[in-house]
Amino acid sequence: MKKPKDNKSTKRALSKTKQTNGKIIRRRNSQKTTGQPETKRAPSLAKQLFLIIIATSLVITAFVSWMILTKPERSLPVTDKTDEKHYFSDSKYKGIRSKFVTRSSKKEATSLEYPVTDNNKINKITSSIIDRYDNDFKHLLPGGSGIKPMTQTISYQVSYNTSDYLSIAIYIKQDTHGAHPLSATSFWTFDKNTGAAISLDDLLEGDENDIKALLDAAKKSVKKTLEDRKKPEANLEEYLTKSTLNNFTISNNSITWPFGQQAFLPSSYGEIGINLPAKDLATNLQHPLARKLLNIPEPKKMPPTKPALPQANPSANCPSGRCVALTFDDGPGPHTERLLDILRQHNVKASFFVLGSKSSSGTHILRRTASEGHYIGNHSWSHANLSKLEAGSIHKELSQTSEAIYKATGKRPSSMRPPYGASNHIVASEMKKLEMSSIMWSVDTRDWADRNSIIVCNRAVAGASPGAIILMHDIHSTSVDATPCIIDALKKQGYSFVTVEQLFGKLVPGETYHSNP
Ligand code: ZN
Repeated sequence: MKKPKDNKSTKRALSKTKQTNGKIIRRRNSQKTTGQPETKRAPSLAKQLFLIIIATSLVITAFVSWMILTKPERSLPVTDKTDEKHYFSDSKYKGIRSKFVTRSSKKEATSLEYPVTDNNKINKITSSIIDRYDNDFKHLLPGGSGIKPMTQTISYQVSYNTSDYLSIAIYIKQDTHGAHPLSATSFWTFDKNTGAAISLDDLLEGDENDIKALLDAAKKSVKKTLEDRKKPEANLEEYLTKSTLNNFTISNNSITWPFGQQAFLPSSYGEIGINLPAKDLATNLQHPLARKLLNIPEPKKMPPTKPALPQANPSANCPSGRCVALTFDDGPGPHTERLLDILRQHNVKASFFVLGSKSSSGTHILRRTASEGHYIGNHSWSHANLSKLEAGSIHKELSQTSEAIYKATGKRPSSMRPPYGASNHIVASEMKKLEMSSIMWSVDTRDWADRNSIIVCNRAVAGASPGAIILMHDIHSTSVDATPCIIDALKKQGYSFVTVEQLFGKLVPGETYHSNP
């Protein structure tokens, strides 16, 4: 693109030199004819010759200098000739300039636009991403001259820009003549004062309920996009996680994720942007930073975060008024008895949501669990995602497990917890038929992800509030190790430990419980 322009300027420079030459000669000539008297003709001829020689040598010197000055570029082999240019320009965004880098050769046509803000930390983060993609691109350039230049365009857009915060998205498009042109994005919402990117945890102060609500809304939005595009269903439970959504942008009072291709689904699904209007999630976005960024007015009265929750039965066994329920899923397992020992030492009652498939080998553990005053609930037979099963299979998963628990303890469970928290109206209807309620949780320790008892303990303690249900798994020894730490810390804060049945007084079949209140 830039090469022909350069040739033009070369020609311009050359013709200018020739013109200069002509002018000099003309001036000398005219000086001779008008300024010199006729009588001095003979010496005048010698002088004239002398002047011509001087002028000619001046022109030659100028031409040679020009040759030397332009030599490095001209001496490059044609195939390697890359014309890289840098320049700065104001952007349309307040306080942000753009640095443009363009490269043009037979191999590539590249155009990069770097945002340049007043904060060097922000500039470093954004430019390092651009440079990383650019380096990958450079490595893909062919050794010789390509048949058709590979193209690369990296640009950015700002969707939110105040004196304190900045949402920016970088769009990377590369066509390296492979099967699929690359279309990727990177985006952040920055704190302009610190230069740090704001995470989802920062936005929602680590509130697991609110994060889960956002995650659910995001999954719903992606599901709708896939349906609209007539794409096959994707396992969003697995692919669309909290860490996928950790970076976000703010745009028009919405939280947006301008994902490119392959951000969390295969490239055949295309680019998948997620846009969640704040007004639809207002109850989950009451944290000060979220309210500020998303323009959510201070509520006159805090709306209930969980509408239509069953009220605590006055007979609920919580004399302290500060009760939490520790719940353990996926057992019985090799660490369950050690956990029972710990609970007995601390005189704490807990709830266990057990798998039917593990009950036959663990009958004696179930019997001990029940006899020591803990609550046993149903967690399906095979840890199936019940929301993907038909009514008959859901019924079988639940009823066989209840039967196994009954055989071991003489009591049928009054509640179930759907594996992965995945439920739908069919699951709800089957559980009601079996006279069970559904017990979810309000504090997710993510103990299966972080097998670290200190992290698990910290999450449980940080998330606890009166009426909370804390989710853990007794199949991990680190979770069992974390239990004394949780009990000690929460007891110091005046909490008592109850089973889920005690927490709600009476569990109503068909109801779903997250916490009380
Ligand atoms: Zn489970």
